[in-house]
Amino acid sequence: MSSISHPRAVERLVQGQDTQDGAGVRLTRVLSHDLQERLDPFLMLDAFGSDNPGDYIAGFPNHPHRGFETVTYMIAGRMRHKDSGGHEGLLQNGGVQWMTAGRGLIHSEMPEQEAGVMEGFQLWLNLPAKNKLCEPWYRDIQSESIPEVTTKHGVLVRVIAGQSHGTDGAVQREHTEPLYLDLHFPDTNHVLFEQPLPATHHAFLYVYRGSLEVVQGDTATTVPHQRMAVLTNGGDGLVLRAQTQTRAIVIAGRPLKEPIAQYGPFVMNTREELVQAVEDFRAGLMG
Ligand code: MN
Repeated sequence: MSSISHPRAVERLVQGQDTQDGAGVRLTRVLSHDLQERLDPFLMLDAFGSDNPGDYIAGFPNHPHRGFETVTYMIAGRMRHKDSGGHEGLLQNGGVQWMTAGRGLIHSEMPEQEAGVMEGFQLWLNLPAKNKLCEPWYRDIQSESIPEVTTKHGVLVRVIAGQSHGTDGAVQREHTEPLYLDLHFPDTNHVLFEQPLPATHHAFLYVYRGSLEVVQGDTATTVPHQRMAVLTNGGDGLVLRAQTQTRAIVIAGRPLKEPIAQYGPFVMNTREELVQAVEDFRAGLMG
């Protein structure tokens, strides 16, 4: 028996676009500009994964942000973060950095390895208009501090944000109420995972190992490896099923329903606020 009576379906499957960012880091842009309204409050999702240092070694030298939050989840690898406020941290294997750029900061994100695998995700989460110029804030959450729960079906859930199966995540945010789960399915057939979701939250998932089915009663839609599924709104939650060792991130949040104005690393509500952001950056007001 399922506790979810009206599960969400797959609205569309998205294949990310290979691109470069920073000083030449190769990555896959999974959630791009054209999905910002549909997946409000989420602005971007980049997936990176390579065992070729040439793909990541250049890193992300000093650059500014204003008006939103970045959530970096390192599956494997080591990345050093430094910002204009004098904060410094090491992000590594299984850890998360949750950074609220607020009114602005300048930071660098540089690999601290010259070989081996670097794999993970960077998610951009919007801030409500009234908080876009808040004081910058961030947390480095080491892997052992990310709450985990194993369901009765044997799915290991890493609860980065929100709540799952009675376990509170490492981060809770008001306004956008983000849910960010990393699911590890065991190597067994027909393993189910259920997650209640508010009907109006926008939700999507991305499969980074194996493949996953989004289940609705007797039917199911397969989400292949390295695809994002945008999920329909409505209903009371999500039912997933895997047939083999599969890993996926599930992300949901409450839409802000405010205008989105973006110029590179600045995300505000109006064009005038973007002009101000560029002026403030040039005037050295971001630290
Ligand atoms: Mn950055």
